[in-house]
Amino acid sequence: SAKAAGSNQWAFFKSQMTERAAVRLRTEASLHEALLNKEFVLFFQPKLDIHTSEIVGCEALIRWQKDGQLVSPVSFIPIAEETGIIIPIGRWVIEQSCKTIRDWQARYNLSLPIAINVSSQQFQDQSLIPDIKQAALRYQIDPKLLEIEITETSLMDDIESAIVKLQQLKTAGFGIAVDDFGTGYSSLSYLRRLPITTMKIDRGFVSDLPDDSAIASTILMLGKQLNLSIVAEGIETQEQLKWLQDQDCQIGQGFYFSQPLAKQEFENKYFEPANAAVNDK
Ligand code: C2E
Ligand code: MG
Ligand code: MG
Ligand code: MG
Repeated sequence: SAKAAGSNQWAFFKSQMTERAAVRLRTEASLHEALLNKEFVLFFQPKLDIHTSEIVGCEALIRWQKDGQLVSPVSFIPIAEETGIIIPIGRWVIEQSCKTIRDWQARYNLSLPIAINVSSQQFQDQSLIPDIKQAALRYQIDPKLLEIEITETSLMDDIESAIVKLQQLKTAGFGIAVDDFGTGYSSLSYLRRLPITTMKIDRGFVSDLPDDSAIASTILMLGKQLNLSIVAEGIETQEQLKWLQDQDCQIGQGFYFSQPLAKQEFENKYFEPANAAVNDK
């Protein structure tokens, strides 16, 4: 009967919910453990001057080293956000990035900016700005070497409070980038009020190049008008690079240049050994 079918469906729905809740609880518990056991690592992907291929900065991207495998943030950041454990994970990312900036200054005499990703939950958390300021102070780093990447969508969630927070970060000297630009629904008048320094063209629009360039052109024009630095994300081909060079985009990031790399690998590839401090005499 229909009634029996309905009740079966309910039972099915309930068991699905329970299953989902159980998975979430298990994952939350294992993320806690991962934090305690230091199973997270930061990978670094270079940002390069599009015209000279010189490195101008990098983005820190988290991975979870779980049973000898690297787990992608795409599979655990959403759960970390849902459960709130993104806050201590994010704190670790801030800490680790400041430490790395300091380490590169000490070992290579290099001041390379690092960009970190801040998710919507983190951005809404009261402790974010004090955490960032304290970490910068603790490691004695110039705030302009730490850039905060926030997606367009998280900014638009609560635009008025976003403006206040971004202003605090900007006043303290940190860089601010709008990540995945073009995928949200920014109104242009709000965009003008956001105290940001950089816009990152979402990979989706870069992958359309060179054939379908309307959005990328528009973002580049907008960036120029607003006096922002523009980073093109997800450059994979020579043709995409060429188009961006011709349009006078300044900074690029993507597999064409490099995948995100483990710290040691990144250092080997991008830092001159000649710059390294001599430790043993
Ligand atoms: P995102 O911030 O937009 O980072 C760019 C993503 O694109 C990275 O994926 C990067 O590996 C990938 N990528 C870079 N160049 C290319 C390319 O040429 N082709 C393709 N197909 N992909 C490219 P990843 O590392 O898996 O990170 C995914 C997302 O996870 C990030 O997107 C960011 O939103 C989030 N995430 C990563 N690390 C953190 C973190 O420490 N904290 C928070 N809250 N979120 C993070
Ligand atoms: Mg990013
Ligand atoms: Mg992005
Ligand atoms: Mg993204």
